[in-house]
Amino acid sequence: MSYITESCPKCYSTYGMHFGPNSGLGPSTFVCSTCGETFQSGRREWLVMSRWSKLWYLFISVAYIIVIGFSAGAIFDDAARHVFAYSNPSTVPPSGPVFWTVAIFFGLATAVLQALRVRWSVQGSLGGDQVPVTPSFLSWKTNLTFFVVASLASVLIVAQMLGRMIR
Ligand SMILES: [Zn+2]
Repeated sequence: MSYITESCPKCYSTYGMHFGPNSGLGPSTFVCSTCGETFQSGRREWLVMSRWSKLWYLFISVAYIIVIGFSAGAIFDDAARHVFAYSNPSTVPPSGPVFWTVAIFFGLATAVLQALRVRWSVQGSLGGDQVPVTPSFLSWKTNLTFFVVASLASVLIVAQMLGRMIR
């Protein structure tokens, strides 16, 4: 998977990021907050997506569910071991239950979020006029990847700090 930044085609100011291919769902027209340029975002709202694009969205959603579920499971499992080892080494839980509980929880949360994104897209599209959206790096509406990565990274950092405290 490659890390890709999204930027304005005219002034190159960065407004987003993603890893590898993105889902393709979102407002089709963006307005740059820096230079005011209007450009195609490469995304489409659900109701005007082709059948193949919708299938792609389902496929990439399953990939998100697996990647986010397993990452979160591994990170929380690691963190839990550090916390229990710190309080009382004899209470360290076996690896399986924590991993699978967290993985399933995050997997389900991702599935719900991807379904809600379709719902929000449909509701927005039904409004009639497609108003161009101003994308921002710190907006979950146009740069959701950043918030998912940031929350997983913060748990990872806390787990690492707990690990250092114990050593
Ligand atoms: Zn620009």
